[in-house]
Amino acid sequence: MRTLRGVSEPISVAEARDAVLARVEAPLEAEPVPLERALGRVLAAEAVAREDVPGFDNSAMDGFAVRAADTDGAGPGSPVTLRVAEESRAGAPAERAVRAGEGFRISTGGVLPDGADAVIRVEEVAERDDEITFEVDADPGRDIRRAGEDIRAGETILQAGAVLGAAELGVLASLGVPAPSCARRPRLALVCTGDELLGPEEPMRPGGVRNSNAHTVPALARGAGAEVIANERCPDDPGATRDALERALEADVAVVCGGVSVGPHDHVKDAFTELGVKEAFWGVALRPGRPTWFGVHGEGPGTGGALAFGLPGNPVSAFVTFVLFVRPAIRALAGADPGTDTATATLASEVARLPKRDQAVRCGLELTDDGWVATPTGPQASHILTSMLGADALAVVEAGPEPAPAGERVRVQLLRA
Ligand code: AMP
Ligand code: MG
Repeated sequence: MRTLRGVSEPISVAEARDAVLARVEAPLEAEPVPLERALGRVLAAEAVAREDVPGFDNSAMDGFAVRAADTDGAGPGSPVTLRVAEESRAGAPAERAVRAGEGFRISTGGVLPDGADAVIRVEEVAERDDEITFEVDADPGRDIRRAGEDIRAGETILQAGAVLGAAELGVLASLGVPAPSCARRPRLALVCTGDELLGPEEPMRPGGVRNSNAHTVPALARGAGAEVIANERCPDDPGATRDALERALEADVAVVCGGVSVGPHDHVKDAFTELGVKEAFWGVALRPGRPTWFGVHGEGPGTGGALAFGLPGNPVSAFVTFVLFVRPAIRALAGADPGTDTATATLASEVARLPKRDQAVRCGLELTDDGWVATPTGPQASHILTSMLGADALAVVEAGPEPAPAGERVRVQLLRA
């Protein structure tokens, strides 16, 4: 077993993340989700088109549906005149075919009437009574959108794991899917431990600390796609900690902030162990976030068990370790690829390295002609929560003897998934 004080070295950030993801066997079970509520949800099964889109040949322009052959020879100085016999409006097709010498008025999206194979735009014709005159020799297919040009029946349009944004919701609607099947949202319960904690509304008292994690962590959890089902505060007492953790383990993901380090008032690890949670790791070679603890209850989520995270209480440590370790678990439980939120950037200024620990440096990102540039947001200590303001990413600066110079290429973990 790895311990902070034991002989084993803390594991690397990548090892810790892999250990977490290895405990997510499969996405949670699927449920139909109405499109109105599906923004940000993840498709559980591929979406296959049952019908062509567009469903029929139609006009790309407002104008007149004609037989291209009737326009042969038209040009400047040699106009063609056709009789306007019918109309095809969007949603109200014409009732018969176009005959020789005729044009049907047609709106954008109107069904192309039988017999017609080209469209003359409204701005190209002179209209008089029931006739149009124009000087355009139209080729067959002119200004016509063909059935199935966007989507063909039987085609797979979205893969399982697709995250539903505006474009995906629109495409599903155009496929006639009112409620796509999506993995259930992972349920997350948060416990913040600490006798010192105070809500923002409570009067300050000596030694009091505002419970900021009770607000950052649920916000991050929702942003990652979780449903936050509990958010409680717990004193530094072994019995109270155990009871709070037992309740939290009813969720798919139990997150505890604070009380996970080596102090005499840190009860989280013992409480998790007593509750049968199996430790996977404790201690990551990372600043901030070294005492991060992770274990699995039962068989894990989806089978009545849970993933259990003990995050350090310092506000930045909790934030950083949530983004690095809890968010991928939530994404994977929801069926999404957890690895789409990293990029490479260039450091704008030198960053002192730690000899044995990687650092997660809060950075603003700016796109320049040379790609993304990461600028540290200011003092980086783990209690300086304001260093998260204006941060777009965590630059992961690897351990080493020499400072990381300005211009070094680093991996960045984007803060917005
Ligand atoms: P701990 O991880 O419990 O040793 O806490 C480390 C530091 O983080 C202490 O200064 C705590 O007061 C602070 N802290 C712990 N939990 C929270 C929280 N929920 N919100 C803000 N600060 C916290
Ligand atoms: Mg504490």
